[in-house]
Amino acid sequence: MYQHTTLTGEHIDLPIGKVVCVGRNYLDHIQELNNEVPAEPLLFMKPATALCEISKPLVIPADRGECHNELEVALLIAKPLRDCSNEQTAADALYGVGLALDLTLRDVQQKLKDKGQPWERAKAFDGACPVSSFTPLDAPADLGNLDFSLTINGDVRQQGNTKLMMRDALSLLCAISEVFTLQPGDIVLTGTPKGVGPLLQGDNLQLKMAPWFDIHTQVGE
Ligand code: ZN
Repeated sequence: MYQHTTLTGEHIDLPIGKVVCVGRNYLDHIQELNNEVPAEPLLFMKPATALCEISKPLVIPADRGECHNELEVALLIAKPLRDCSNEQTAADALYGVGLALDLTLRDVQQKLKDKGQPWERAKAFDGACPVSSFTPLDAPADLGNLDFSLTINGDVRQQGNTKLMMRDALSLLCAISEVFTLQPGDIVLTGTPKGVGPLLQGDNLQLKMAPWFDIHTQVGE
């Protein structure tokens, strides 16, 4: 059973909630999939049953087409946030940051997109949201300059920096809180940079965000 944990593996005393995801927040990724730049944040959700520990072998659904990596900076919420218009309030509501994969069944998603249907079948399956532990930040300003990367079988697949987000993390939290309340224990995924692609059984993944995270994991047992 998934639980939020600290860098040293201790249990964080927050419930397990929903995962709110932001699509199309890095221009290079919008361009690689030929998507339009959204006028307001593109939001979707994953249920708590999608959460799993990123350091355990990743289970991807068989026979549903390609399952893509989307490496994203994850924010763990510690205090309720509703109709927030002040970034300091958003910063105060944050427990800290981690890394997550927004696993996406790309072929399924493409069919849903073509029909104008919701994306849950492609993004909300059990295990669709592997997440790391979480660490508090010394200063909220640090959120605006975090380097993160995903290496697969020794090749760098994704490399991002939060300063390249089209909408920064705290303003995203405010924008989300105007649509629905963020609760303690909820997680927000802040979008993926370019480099999405199919994951294969046996792939070895290394996810980094210095100085806190250097995670090794794999697809399948
Ligand atoms: Zn994503």
